[in-house]
Amino acid sequence: MSKAVLVDITKCVGCGSCGVACKMWNNLEYRKESPMLGKDSKLDAENWTNIKLVETETGAEKQSVWRFVKNQCLHCEEPACVSACFSKALQKTKSGPVVYHTNLCVGCRYCMLACPFDIPKYEWGKVIPRIRKCQMCPGRIKEGNSPACTEVCPTNALTFGEHKDLLKQARATINNNNKKYVQHIFGEKEAGGTAWLYISDVPFKELGFRTDVTTQAVPYYTESIMHLTPAVGLTWGALLTGMYVYNRRRNTIANEENDNKKGK
Ligand code: SF4
Ligand code: SF4
Repeated sequence: MSKAVLVDITKCVGCGSCGVACKMWNNLEYRKESPMLGKDSKLDAENWTNIKLVETETGAEKQSVWRFVKNQCLHCEEPACVSACFSKALQKTKSGPVVYHTNLCVGCRYCMLACPFDIPKYEWGKVIPRIRKCQMCPGRIKEGNSPACTEVCPTNALTFGEHKDLLKQARATINNNNKKYVQHIFGEKEAGGTAWLYISDVPFKELGFRTDVTTQAVPYYTESIMHLTPAVGLTWGALLTGMYVYNRRRNTIANEENDNKKGK
């Protein structure tokens, strides 16, 4: 059974609780220079989710409105990041989350290029950089709980459940309130479908969503390009092997240095 989250943008009040829960559960740093909430907020290696304040004018009367848009990995049904990852560091689980295994990552950053939503982030400033992103709290889901962010939302803007049930719920909500909601469930078809689904009363484009993304699963494109370029594939494979060996060596040196500092 594949799990999903339905985000109702009309219900989000921008309290930031979801972002705090994400930081606490995943041991992520707070950085003054990179807020997770507000106009200037963005995703980065320590902000796996952000709540962006968007001011826009909407409707025939160009009414001024504020909306809060929670961003994170959308956990695509057929993730381009997974198909682009030669070392199998990124994997789609049966229950929905797209997770990654840091020890398998060779640091090629091809997932960053492949993702149509610009999600994976790199730890540019670290000696041993890793790719980082929301993993949808797979451990919590395995134990029958919901992701940390969805559990704390005080307004029920975030609903966790079965993908097919949430799609039905989203469709019923926008059909029953067709004067209020935009008739579009973002994530139903984008990139072949995603585990995070959004409904809104303001057109998604005005809120900064990637509305130009293909409805075809992106791995279809990635794989067809790779099949056409065997030479590139071979060169890439050799390059990745070199990077893997290089990264392993670098990790060993860094671990040795840490042990020396600790006087081990
Ligand atoms: S949104 Fe990007 S990083 Fe997340 S699963 Fe889809 S392709 Fe991968
Ligand atoms: S916890 Fe809920 S209401 Fe608060 S910012 Fe997150 S989604 Fe919005």
